[in-house]
Amino acid sequence: MELDDYHPMPFSSSIYRKGAEIYRQGGVALDVETGKGIYLLVEGEHQRYNVRLMSDDTYNCTCRLGSLKAGKGVLCSHIVAAILFVSAGGRRTGQSD
Ligand SMILES: [Zn+2]
Repeated sequence: MELDDYHPMPFSSSIYRKGAEIYRQGGVALDVETGKGIYLLVEGEHQRYNVRLMSDDTYNCTCRLGSLKAGKGVLCSHIVAAILFVSAGGRRTGQSD
């Protein structure tokens, strides 16, 4: 797997919007952070998914899309939400918007 497969992130705008919505609504929670990566719980439409953002720039989600596309550099909305959460410092927003 080449790093180029991940940058720029190849998610569609609709997936990004959905992920941003989950994040804004506080649907992301930090589970565990280790030296290998960050594990998060993300609220989907019908259930909660486990998202892993690994320190080697790979990522993984337990939802159907994340599983199908694993290793192909495609993001699901849950991973987008998790990345937004971590990028903001791992806290809920509630300040803007
Ligand atoms: Zn997912």
